[in-house]
Amino acid sequence: MHECILYKSLKGKSVQCFACNHRCIIKENYSGICGVRKNIEGKLCLLVYGVIISENIDPIEKKPLFNFLPHTNTYSIGTIGCNFKCDFCQNYGISQVKEIIGKKISAQEIVKRALKSGCKSISYTYNEPTIFAEFVKEIAVLAKEKGLKNILVTNGYMTKECMDFLGDYIDAMNIDLKSLNEDFYRKLCKSKLSPVLETIKYAYKKGIHIEITTLLIPGENDSEKELKEIVKFISGISREIPWHISRFFPMYKMKNKDVTSIGSLRKAEEIGKKYLKYVYVGNVW
Ligand code: SF4
Ligand code: SF4
Repeated sequence: MHECILYKSLKGKSVQCFACNHRCIIKENYSGICGVRKNIEGKLCLLVYGVIISENIDPIEKKPLFNFLPHTNTYSIGTIGCNFKCDFCQNYGISQVKEIIGKKISAQEIVKRALKSGCKSISYTYNEPTIFAEFVKEIAVLAKEKGLKNILVTNGYMTKECMDFLGDYIDAMNIDLKSLNEDFYRKLCKSKLSPVLETIKYAYKKGIHIEITTLLIPGENDSEKELKEIVKFISGISREIPWHISRFFPMYKMKNKDVTSIGSLRKAEEIGKKYLKYVYVGNVW
């Protein structure tokens, strides 16, 4: 079992994880909210270390990243589990499973496959990479040595300690900014907004290339007021940060919702372009 690094021991045999902002306090024989970091005999262990569920060669634009290594492929991997429980999760089949499943693979083998396939980068994607940060780091260090870039596709809930731990090995991030409303994060994702805003600012400050994605869900985060708040927040950091507006399709616990209308996507694009240099509408064609 692989011992995590991003945690501290507490009284008795309890531990506190600080990979993400849930900062779970975990008793012996229990796992944190993400389900993949378990307290075994007073040590926090990463159950998905070297166990991936998905592995694909994707165009980098699919992450989506449009202004970083354009027209290249990225070697994409993910494990099971997530620290969020979004009702609209488009990947719930891997993010919300309870048992540890996947195939074993070493960091060396992932880097070898990425190089062999001609990819210019490795993306930690499909589920939330923060929850397997220690495995990300091992791969990222090797990848960087071989000249590959490292990309996180993330909900942005990692702690500053986690960002610093991953350090200079992360070159680009696509960060979800799902809403600018605390209630949205609390009710629909079982998490909080403010740490996500901090991550976006911190990643930018660290010089990481960042792009932001907002999934536009009818009636939940698509009001003119909220869209303006989102783009004002992004442009307050830099109007050069690309913003991806993504189309929602009824999924998981939100099957009763409508697909985002083209009109609504266009309205968001129009608002975005008033404040930002790069606005992209995705998931449409
Ligand atoms: S990464 Fe998992 S165990 Fe750690 S604080 Fe977040 S949800 Fe809890
Ligand atoms: S953060 Fe992403 S992967 Fe995790 S539950 Fe939400 S939508 Fe799914």
